[in-house]
Parts: sequence; structure tokens; C-alpha cells
Amino acid sequence: MDASLLVIGGGIGGLATALAAARGGRRVHVIEKSPEFTEIGAGLQLAPNATRMLDRLGVLEDVLELATFPKSLVMMDAVTGLPLTRLDLGDAFTAHYGFPYIVMHRGDLLATELKACRCEPLITLHSDREAMSIEQDADVVHVTCHDGTSFDCQAVVGADGLWSRVRKTVHDDGDPICAQYVAYRGTLPLRDAPPETNLENMTIWVGPEMHFVQYVIHGGTLLNQVAVFRSRRYRPGCDDRDDWGTPDELDAAFASLCPTVRHAVHFVRRDRRWPMFDRLPISSWTSGRITLLGDAAHPMLQYIAQGACQALEDAVCLGDALGRHCDWRAAFLAYEAERIPRTARVQQTARFFGELKHLDGVGRAVRNALLQKRSPDDFDYFDFLYGYSLP
Ligand SMILES: Cc1cc2nc3c(=O)[nH]c(=O)nc-3n(C[C@H](O)[C@H](O)[C@H](O)COP(=O)(O)OP(=O)(O)OC[C@H]3O[C@@H](n4cnc5c(N)ncnc54)[C@H](O)[C@@H]3O)c2cc1C
Repeated sequence: MDASLLVIGGGIGGLATALAAARGGRRVHVIEKSPEFTEIGAGLQLAPNATRMLDRLGVLEDVLELATFPKSLVMMDAVTGLPLTRLDLGDAFTAHYGFPYIVMHRGDLLATELKACRCEPLITLHSDREAMSIEQDADVVHVTCHDGTSFDCQAVVGADGLWSRVRKTVHDDGDPICAQYVAYRGTLPLRDAPPETNLENMTIWVGPEMHFVQYVIHGGTLLNQVAVFRSRRYRPGCDDRDDWGTPDELDAAFASLCPTVRHAVHFVRRDRRWPMFDRLPISSWTSGRITLLGDAAHPMLQYIAQGACQALEDAVCLGDALGRHCDWRAAFLAYEAERIPRTARVQQTARFFGELKHLDGVGRAVRNALLQKRSPDDFDYFDFLYGYSLP
């Protein structure tokens, strides 16, 4: 099959890339290894830097119809049960950044992107196609899938996530780095939620080597919960085993917290866990006619809820670069020149926030004292993150 641009991976980043490139007049094929274009059943926070990009992609209106608008982001001490600080997400916040902070079901975001892609004649979507080999010469990239189908394309974007196969053709930095933390997450019908849940805010409970996130999505019908903790059973080299970060460790890690958190964690699904990984920033994402995007390029810890937001920024930036440069490589180099410093800072900030959230002892006491002095309408620290717009 001939394709001018092939996007490998049909997640949030890959579909946004297809939209951005097609809106700039490029013909795009997207291949996704799963039988359907789909997302896991959990929530997603989208800060104003992401809603700004969804607006650029022309899908914000549809997204907002499915979104929930939390009044505040509240940080609580998971041990004492006392409030630490609050970030108001109301009118002043939205006016300051020009776009809202929303939360939604991941599936709702992907479905909106998918609908927009299906309406775009320049985009062709292929599910059930896993890219197995990616080879390039001066003129063409040749991609072969698991079922023997192949694509000859002018250029490739690897949007194939944390365990990216495309990344191996661009950079050799081994496997992602395991943080020794795991997350258990999922949604439950609001009618089954713990009665003490704060419904109008997004709540983050922080404690020693753990945190716990709760917010309502899907038209107020579902409660999303994410329980994160450090596993004491982790051993180097056992990243891909499932004998660490187990449900019994989750219960033990939450056993000495305040009653509200101890109770709420029983409502978190135990059937799947997500070990936390990131990578260190690298100096180039591009090799010839191939570049990387989203988690394939800059996987980060989810502690500031920015992975998908950054993938959306990448997609719009790449679309802009493709609009300015006919030559693929020139566009890819312009794109990475803008995006690598930005995402490197966000990757490092995510690590820092993990340390801050998971403090114990004196560090925890100092953190709490400082946070309690902050004003809920002090947005200064967040400007670099949420105020970003493309040049
Ligand atoms: C617990 C948790 C909570 C999070 N919360 C937030 C949040 O609130 N806000 C936020 O912004 N981010 C959040 N993130 C991060 C966010 O989920 C990711 O950064 C984001 O999904 C990355 O999107 P992506 O499209 O780059 O990669 P992915 O979503 O991983 O998509 C990659 C796609 O490529 C496909 N694929 C892989 N290999 C191949 C192949 N060889 N051939 C074809 N297809 C392939 C996969 O099936 C997949 O569909 C969270 C992450 C975790 C773990």
C-alpha cells in the first residue's frame, strides 16, 4: 500500500497526529495493532494546554460536550485527612489560560478523535495491524505488519506508546525506567461510590510513598479512582513480572491512612495494574524520514497528568511544521526542535512532583506547611505548564 505519511499507533497521540497532518493537506494512514481503536476504561485529566490543542484540532466543542468541569483540584493529606491546598479551576482560572481544565473518560476522547478522523477524507484507518519491521532508504520507509501487509510511505510517525518499536529504529536507550511504583485504576458507577466522595472537585490524597486520585466523569455517572504506591517487593530486573505491586501490597500500603482513603481504596479495581515507567529525555527523535511522538518520544510519570496533554501538543506542533516545510525531514527537525526542550522539562517536573507527593517525615511536614500557605488562585507555578502555546 502506498501512503505519504504512516502513523504507527492509533492512541490519543496517533489520531491527533493524523488529524493535524490531514488538516494541513497531507494524506495519512494510521495503523493500530488492537482489533479496535479503543482506550482503557479510566479517566483522563486534560489541562488548558491540552484543551487549547483540541481547539486547534477543531474537536474541542465535541470534547466539551462529554467533559466534566471540576470546580477545584484539592490536595489532601492522606494520613491526617486534612486539606493541604486547592487550585481553583473556575472562571478566573479559565480566563487566565483562555481554556478550561476538564476531566473525561478516555474512551470518550478517543471516540471524538476517531469520529473526526473518519470525517476526514485524507485519513485512512487500519485496525488489527501491528507494525513488526520498519526499514528506510533515502526515498521510502517500508513498514511490514504482523499479517504480512506492508506500507511504502514517504514518512513515518511512531506514536506507538511506551514500549515503542519505532523508537528502536531512531534511538538506542534500552527499556523504559521503572519507578518501582504501580497504579490501580478504573471507574465505578457513582451510585456504588463511597458516600464520603467529594463529587464537585478533583481530589488528590498524598502520603508516604502513595497517592490516590478521585474525580467524577461521564456526565456525573462514573467515579474514576487511581491508587498509586511504591512496591517493596520490586527487584531490579523484574520489571515485567507481576509478582510485585500486587493487590495485597496495595491494601497494606493504604492500611495506615485516614479512614476516608482506607475505605475508598476498597472500591478500586484489582484486575489489572500499571507499573509506572518513564525515560530520560533524548536529544533527537528523528532518523531520516521517521520521527516519534507522545509516549514513544517522551514517556513520563503520570504524577502531573500530562502524558496525553503533551502528545496533543506534539501533534499540533507537528501539523504546523508539516504546513511550513514540504520536506519531511525538515518538518520533523523543526518539530523536535520545539518539542524536545518542552517535553524534557515536563518529564523532569513529573518526577519532581512524584517525590513531592510521596514525601514522609520532615520533608512531608515542610511540604504541608508550605502548601497550606498557597492561595487557591495563585496560578504562577502552573503558567509554564498550562500557559504553553505554539509559536
Ligand atoms: C495511571 C495513569 C494515569 C494517567 N493519567 C493521565 C492524565 O490524567 N492526563 C494525561 O494527560 N495523561 C495521563 N496519563 C498518560 C497518558 O495515558 C499517556 O501519556 C497517553 O495515553 C500517551 O498517548 P500515546 O498516543 O502517545 O500512546 P498510547 O496511548 O500508548 O497509544 C499507543 C498506541 O499504539 C498502539 N501500538 C503499539 N505498538 C504498535 C505497533 N507496533 N503497531 C501498531 N500499533 C501499535 C497501541 O495499541 C496504542 O493504541 C496517565 C497514564 C497512566 C499510566
